Amino acid sequence: MPKKRIDLTGKKFGRLTVIEELEERKQGRIVWRCQCDCGNELNVQGIYLTTGQTQSCGCLKKELDNKNLREEYENKRIDGVVLPLFKGKKPRKDSSTGYRGVAKYYTRKSKEVRYRAWITVNGKQYFKSGFKTPEEAYYNGRLKLEELYLPKENENEKR
Ligand SMILES: [Zn+2]
Repeated sequence: MPKKRIDLTGKKFGRLTVIEELEERKQGRIVWRCQCDCGNELNVQGIYLTTGQTQSCGCLKKELDNKNLREEYENKRIDGVVLPLFKGKKPRKDSSTGYRGVAKYYTRKSKEVRYRAWITVNGKQYFKSGFKTPEEAYYNGRLKLEELYLPKENENEKR
C-alpha cells in the first residue's frame, strides 16, 4: 500500500527550499533535492525536513560555530582595551612632548628634565621613568610598556 505522500516541492525548511522529489528512496523514504540559501544543493529525506532536523546544507551550523568562536574571541580581546587604538606604532603628535604616552617631568632634587612613558590598560597605569629625551621614553618606554601590558593580538589573524 502506497503511503499518502506529502508533496514538499517548493516548501521551505530553514534555509532549504525543496526543488524536487528524487527517484531515490532511503529506507523506503522519499528523498528530496533541496537548495540551500547559500547555493549548495543537497538531498534530504523528507522526514528530516519535516522534523526540522535538517535546516541547511551545513552552512548554518558552520556559521553558528564561527559566531561563537568570534564572540569568544571578542570577549577575550576586549579585556577593557580596544586594540585598534594602539595599532599605529607611529608616535602621534598629540601630547606636550610630541609623543603619545610620554610626559615630561622634573626630578625632585635637581629639577632636571626627564621623560616618563606611561600606558593605561584596564584602568591601571604603568610607568617607566628616567628617560632623558622624549624619543627614548617613547621607544624604550612606551613601546616596551605596550609589549608588556597590552593584550596580545591573535597571532593567526591576518594583519
Ligand atoms: Zn548552505
